[in-house]
Amino acid sequence: MERRGLRRLHFAAMHFPLPVTAILLAATTAACVRADDAAPLDALVSRARQSGLRVLAGDHLTLVTDRPVRNGDGVDHLPAVFDAAWTAWCAHFDIDAVEHRGWRALGCLIVDRERFRTAGLLPDTIPDFTNGHCHADRFWLVDQSNPDYRRHLLLHEGVHAFTLTLRGLAAPAWYTEGIAEYLATHRLAAAADGPGRFLATPIPLRAGDVEQLGRIETIRALRAADGCPGLEGVFAMPHAAHRDLSDYAASWAAVALLAQHPRHARAFAAAERGPLDADFTRRLTTSPDWEGALAARDFDAFTDEVDYGYDPIRSAIDWSSGKPLAARQSIVVAGDRGWQNCGWSASRERRYTLTAEGRCTVGFLDADADGKGREPRRLESTAEGISLRWYRGRPLGRLLVAQWLEEPPGGGRPRFVVLAEGGRGSFTAAADGPVYCKINDPPGELADNEGRLAVTLAPAE
Ligand SMILES: [Zn+2]
Repeated sequence: MERRGLRRLHFAAMHFPLPVTAILLAATTAACVRADDAAPLDALVSRARQSGLRVLAGDHLTLVTDRPVRNGDGVDHLPAVFDAAWTAWCAHFDIDAVEHRGWRALGCLIVDRERFRTAGLLPDTIPDFTNGHCHADRFWLVDQSNPDYRRHLLLHEGVHAFTLTLRGLAAPAWYTEGIAEYLATHRLAAAADGPGRFLATPIPLRAGDVEQLGRIETIRALRAADGCPGLEGVFAMPHAAHRDLSDYAASWAAVALLAQHPRHARAFAAAERGPLDADFTRRLTTSPDWEGALAARDFDAFTDEVDYGYDPIRSAIDWSSGKPLAARQSIVVAGDRGWQNCGWSASRERRYTLTAEGRCTVGFLDADADGKGREPRRLESTAEGISLRWYRGRPLGRLLVAQWLEEPPGGGRPRFVVLAEGGRGSFTAAADGPVYCKINDPPGELADNEGRLAVTLAPAE
């Protein structure tokens, strides 16, 4: 376990991400506060109690707040949620939870900053912050009206406290903020009472779990506006650049992809087991398992396709070049995968024909959709798709044929460009390179699909 950093916490200060509703303007001057300025946690908790602040204690978090007691706001459950998340963080970093069972952070959930200043719990050495700030094992966050977002902020700062103290974190901004976002993202499974069971969902499963977080929406908006960075751009972000939601979203996306993609997870995990210091990115990108060009392309494909429930394994892409598509070829397109390399490479500006047969299921028709209360029924689609539901401007289940373009028409980051769709047609290749196929379905809804399409590609006469 990495402990060297425990004596190097002078730069251990971080800011909170902003909610999607508050854009721009976080105070992001570099903070530099000596850890040994802090009083022992027990003394701070005594001060809090003497000042009439509410103290909520769990195993790993003592939370002090001036927020009035309100039934059902979830604040009482925050320490229990934090404890469950803490166990998941230990697992991520392969840290022995038993050995560190005495680890504890002090968090301040603040309505009125003056009350905390007066109580001696918000030192003048802590720089001004918009939503929050972390220094070693202490953090502060401004209360949020949305319980999901409040919980997310708390855990985001908790990850900072965890990595700063247990891993001596002094890593580049993209990793520091990206891992905090990655490990803070969660949902609470419904429970009859209590806080609900903490489930780590680093790539959120549904928008309702992460209200106001807006990471996926932000990535999509950045792609649409040609403002999304590539992986190199994310790696190069300075700490001072983390001013708005887009920086946090891009950092989250980089960590999410590298931690979960089958091609990059090993190199990323190996780098995470080493020092989380200023040299982290260099160590990652020079490791023997690192495939930099493919990582850059996978990141562009991820930011282009990202959606709730995105499965990096099911959507992993084979970038191999394939053989020349010089004669009629039959291929199989699975209904439950993202873009699939057909294994045949087209020639730029040459025309090809396409036919497709077969059926795929693309999910279920809700029991109540026809008002008759039947059991859910499977939705079945041909290559033409079904017009009952559309995704990204096309019918669900429709066969899409594309190529990856490093310089797509209209500019922007590299991406897949759809050249043909449906059960029959023709297209002109836009690049020298392999042809990719998939059926149109949200990437988070591929898992329950069944079936495959038999597709024929051929050079046009
Ligand atoms: Zn942060």
